[in-house]
Amino acid sequence: MSTLNKKTVEDIEVAGKKVLVRCDFNVKMEDGVITSDKRIVASLPTIQYLLDKGAKLILCSHLGRPKGEFTPEFSMAPVAARLSELLGKEVKLAKDVVGESAQALAADLKDGEVLLLENVRFEPGETKNDPELSKKFAALADVFVNDAFGSAHRAHSSTTGVADYLPSAVGFLIQKEIQFIGGALEDPKRPLVAILGGAKVSDKIGVINNLIDKCDKVIIGGGMAYTFFKAMGLPVGTSLVDKENIENAKAMMDKAHEKGVAFLLPVDNIIADRYAEDAQYMKIYSDSIPDGWMGLDIGPKTAELYAKSIKGAGTVIWNGPMGVSEWEHFAEGTVAVAKGVADSGAISIIGGGDSAAAIKKLGFEKQMSHISTGGGASLEFLEGKELPGIACIDEK
Ligand code: AMP
Repeated sequence: MSTLNKKTVEDIEVAGKKVLVRCDFNVKMEDGVITSDKRIVASLPTIQYLLDKGAKLILCSHLGRPKGEFTPEFSMAPVAARLSELLGKEVKLAKDVVGESAQALAADLKDGEVLLLENVRFEPGETKNDPELSKKFAALADVFVNDAFGSAHRAHSSTTGVADYLPSAVGFLIQKEIQFIGGALEDPKRPLVAILGGAKVSDKIGVINNLIDKCDKVIIGGGMAYTFFKAMGLPVGTSLVDKENIENAKAMMDKAHEKGVAFLLPVDNIIADRYAEDAQYMKIYSDSIPDGWMGLDIGPKTAELYAKSIKGAGTVIWNGPMGVSEWEHFAEGTVAVAKGVADSGAISIIGGGDSAAAIKKLGFEKQMSHISTGGGASLEFLEGKELPGIACIDEK
């Protein structure tokens, strides 16, 4: 299935229509107070666009993990208040999700007005993608817009089921994810280079497998490199090794070899005598990691080699840091590769939660073309899985 020809908000007529927008307002909260409104802010372009076009907006989202019933601590009330401040206009809050209050307020909406439904997970049918609930969502509106990329890998009523009963389109947030991740996977500017790091092979095996099929080059760093070392019979000391995936690691290298895809592993490493920020550390070639030491970053030779091999790339997909980049002494590999990506002029796509956080913390956010907003969703997208929240949307 191609994701590239899905309808966007710009392809649909919304003036005077009731538009149900599934947002990702799953904000961080402490004691009923929003501690980061980033996700609300990120939703504004789609909301503002629809308001400018004269739509009647019905917004919905999940917040936290309530168990299918009204739970005051998971109410959308703080979101309604913050959204209202950001938009500079009233945001009405329904007392329920699809009940009497939601129905009455939706029926009364005027052009340019905004209604927020209560937490969709107060409805037990939401996470079961119950068609009865999907129909009730659909009955509130004329059109459905999905802009919650972070939940697009979940087939729930408000992310997927509702699209069975309404014309549909994606909002700008999902459109951008499709443009970059979908574009890189389906129609990339080549050469396409994947940089894969982070802790565990097990989390990324599907990503590695899919990207070997699509990429011209795969670059491996981070803790996962040592499972590949182990598969090659190299000494790894006390480095992170994913014992259950040693065979898989070998299979991945064989597959890359068969397909003629360059598969790069570190030639040197920064090793430490223990897993600690203030551990003793030194540089060592990959065939000589001593007993009792663990690899916590790629070494300088590897960083140089990797930066060189990114030069000339058309597109770079990067998931997972090259080392324990949270700790100064083990961040240099990630910094060097980030510089390499920034200098390459390639379309650069950062996917997954931890990678995005590392890139932001190290100060490279502005130099990347796209930093994905969905951890789990972007991993599944990179694995080549169909995301139900995108698959359900009408085609152009
Ligand atoms: P992930 O969520 O899989 O992208 O992994 C990110 C985490 O991997 C970060 O918290 C890093 O500290 C960790 N990590 C990266 N390299 C290593 C390594 N060589 N050994 C242990 N942990 C690592």
